[in-house]
Amino acid sequence: MRPPGGFAIVCHCLLLETDRGLCLVDTGFGIGEASFGALPGFYRPMIRPVLADSEAAFNQVIALGLDPRDVRDIVVTHLDVDHAGGLRDFPWARVHLHAAEHAAATRPATSADKGRYRARQWEHGVDWMTYDDRGGDTLFGLSAIRPLHDLPDLALIPLAGHSRGHSGVAVDTGDGWLLHAGDAYWFHGEVAPRPHCPRALSLTQRLIATDHRLRLENVAKLRDLPADVRVFSAHDPHELNVAVS
Ligand SMILES: [Zn+2]
Repeated sequence: MRPPGGFAIVCHCLLLETDRGLCLVDTGFGIGEASFGALPGFYRPMIRPVLADSEAAFNQVIALGLDPRDVRDIVVTHLDVDHAGGLRDFPWARVHLHAAEHAAATRPATSADKGRYRARQWEHGVDWMTYDDRGGDTLFGLSAIRPLHDLPDLALIPLAGHSRGHSGVAVDTGDGWLLHAGDAYWFHGEVAPRPHCPRALSLTQRLIATDHRLRLENVAKLRDLPADVRVFSAHDPHELNVAVS
């Protein structure tokens, strides 16, 4: 995506091999999104997505030599259009997410929520697996929801603020933890010891957030994570380059 201000930002999806098959964390935009229907009105000028089918998760799974039918599970950090677009490409997969996000997206109560989600991205019928955070579990000092159904090595980390049920996804790789922080922050400098973020990205995040203060509180918690937790966000190209290099 190319939001105003000269930035190029990515949709950082994670593909995991689990005992059940493949598991995708976030789905980015999907195949045919450009012709499938307009994004919500305010989104297009704000994020200016490229919408190249070759970059869709489905085609990237094939490019890795893997079978998209083996993607049995999808965990989404939230259901904004740039995270849920690929759901239609994996209609056989179960979709795990925080119950508050599912409710906000499928039964939107405010005009802001009605505007930000696009029900067409899940109108094919989705086998939703929803979770709330009343269990009281924690992981590296953050509240955690685990295990996920049949995915014992994954946990949802509630990080609301960007959207109502926004959550990070923690993965026990057997060799340390990964934390896909979704849209908890957009720029790696936000979780640096001396926090900084380009003004345009700060303003856009503030504009989109359902709870700006809560988002900032959660970013502060991410800044204090133990050093052996590898955290990255959904949209920072620098963090994607570090992850794939
Ligand atoms: Zn996003």
